Amino acid sequence: MTDTYRHRGLRRALVTALRGRGIADERVLAAIGAVPRHLFFDPGFEAHAYQDKAFPIGEGQTISQPYTVAYQTELLGLQPTHRVLEVGTGSGYQCAVLLQLTPLVHSIEVNPVLFGRTRQLLAGLGLGRPDLHCGDGSLGLPAAAPYDAILVTAGAPALPPALLRQLAVGGRLVIPVGTAAEQRMVRVTRETADSYLREELETFRFVPLRGAGGWRA
Ligand code: SAM
Repeated sequence: MTDTYRHRGLRRALVTALRGRGIADERVLAAIGAVPRHLFFDPGFEAHAYQDKAFPIGEGQTISQPYTVAYQTELLGLQPTHRVLEVGTGSGYQCAVLLQLTPLVHSIEVNPVLFGRTRQLLAGLGLGRPDLHCGDGSLGLPAAAPYDAILVTAGAPALPPALLRQLAVGGRLVIPVGTAAEQRMVRVTRETADSYLREELETFRFVPLRGAGGWRA
């Protein structure tokens, strides 16, 4: 699949729609405009790529809705020197968006099938070189900690303690927290070594975060 004039036009329209929904950070909008979302879809489903909706990617998982990707990314306030951890690589689309804002992206996926597929896809796209891992991201990725930003793309029952520990002072954790049916977006800023500011934001519906710091079943 290639990135055609038509795809670029559809992306411009998507960016306009996201701006209309309140996404104001032009760097985030430019990142959405730069990543060909259709390349993260099976060719048969390409027509869905520039609609503002989540879509199945197999293994019972989804590629997040563009609005959600833009919203979570904006909350991180990324700078080009920031080190980021994404929990829930999924299709790799959010990872590719993060790479437009900083080259220092680590991403971890618990599902080995999605991990293998997405690692291969991202290696061929030339959108950046993320550090990809397969494992339980509810425990974070201690080897590369601390992080200026941690983004969780699945819904958690509570704040995973390991992710709080792996935040740098000044760093931000953005994570949906709630029941399996509905979550509030939470942004936690580590203000000092032992104090955190918690903000509760919009309501979303994410697939569950699995693992030791998520829904265990
Ligand atoms: N960021 C993804 C994208 O752009 O396609 C969204 C993926 S989907 C909404 C959430 C992902 O989180 C799924 O791929 C799921 O397998 C993964 N996941 C769930 N629990 C996890 C865990 N404990 N560690 C790592 N990944 C996890």
